[in-house]
Amino acid sequence: MRILVTGGAGFIGSHLIDRLMGQGHDVICLDNFYTGHKRNILKWMDHPYFELIRHDITEPIRLEVDQIYHLACPASPVHYQYNPVKTIKTNVMGTLNMLGLAKRVKARFLLASTSEVYGDPDVHPQPEEYRGNVNTIGIRSCYDEGKRVAETLAFDYHRQNNVDIRVARIFNTYGPRMLENDGRVVSNFIVQTLQNKPLTVYGDGLQTRSFCFVSDLVEGLMRLMNGSHLGPVNLGNPDEYTILELAQTIQGMINPDVDVKFEPLPQDDPRRRQPDITRAKAWLDWQPTIPLNEGLQLTIEDFRSRLGETSRPVSS
Ligand code: NAD
Ligand code: UDP
Ligand code: UDP
Repeated sequence: MRILVTGGAGFIGSHLIDRLMGQGHDVICLDNFYTGHKRNILKWMDHPYFELIRHDITEPIRLEVDQIYHLACPASPVHYQYNPVKTIKTNVMGTLNMLGLAKRVKARFLLASTSEVYGDPDVHPQPEEYRGNVNTIGIRSCYDEGKRVAETLAFDYHRQNNVDIRVARIFNTYGPRMLENDGRVVSNFIVQTLQNKPLTVYGDGLQTRSFCFVSDLVEGLMRLMNGSHLGPVNLGNPDEYTILELAQTIQGMINPDVDVKFEPLPQDDPRRRQPDITRAKAWLDWQPTIPLNEGLQLTIEDFRSRLGETSRPVSS
């Protein structure tokens, strides 16, 4: 099959491309390198079945493909809030263009949506039926509301134009190739601990998240794409941790002597988040297999090799 991956030079997209190339597909990676990097896809650059197109999805493009994994969108709060209007354009105009493309070539279209559509949830854990608690005018809204419109567009293209859609609601995902400076909690804590800097815990650290290792997530995306259910389907690891527990786990794995520093909680930061994956289990026969400790170890090794000498813990 010929498969388009938008955002393919990013964190999740590049892991997905590794799997698709491994299965022998013809893969086109579309990316504007806003938060993605060529180094993530470097190993495929000379492969005859791989094609890289530098393109911003807010502009139309004509391609011939069988499937579209639509992942292009900055995912970390630091990056999506840096240029919020651009984030909305990417989610709305970009998704519209990719759905227009899917309609024209009759490709199956998978949207990488997010647990952020649930906002600061007052239902816990979050099932797909829950409609969310999102602030329309806050600093996270460009992303949350952008993804909500993207979901709406996908379902309207399905109803109006028969586009074959799939919608995944992805929960916090981590693993090798996360950016050192992307501001997400797992990468921040690992980089800080490796560099003997205090861990920045926002608020009291009692807010929770559930962390899914990237290989598990990619498996879920591929099962959803190739199965018969449209979704939306939650994809995430239901093991829930407070941010303080995460800090302590990472300290314990790298350097227990590093300090914790409390900083103000960002506006609209969701207090808790945990996926209800009943639907993913039933529809996709999918559930995560990599426990947090194992996934963190692989992620720490990747950061260590990228950060080099500066990352060696001080021996006492
Ligand atoms: P990422 O920032 O590493 O990857 C996004 C990619 O999209 C980057 O390569 C970036 O350069 C590209 N991109 C951004 N805007 C673009 C545009 N206008 N045109 C073309 N390319 C553009 O993020 P990620 O963590 O790999 O996330 C991938 C997708 O999964 C995103 O849609 C994100 O919203 C979704 N998601 C991720 C998580 C997570 O925890 N990582 C959670 C929920 C949803
Ligand atoms: N589009 C695109 N590539 C295609 C087909 C469409 O980028 O191969 C864009 C198109 O430019 C438009 C959007 O997708 O901005 C929606 O397309 P659709 O055909 O649904 O709407 P229309 O062009 O009729 O407004
Ligand atoms: N967080 C933190 N310290 C950091 C980065 C994040 O305490 O250095 C907190 C953040 O306030 C949030 C949680 O960790 O409560 C997850 O943040 P992240 O940006 O990784 O993801 P999201 O908020 O989008 O789930």
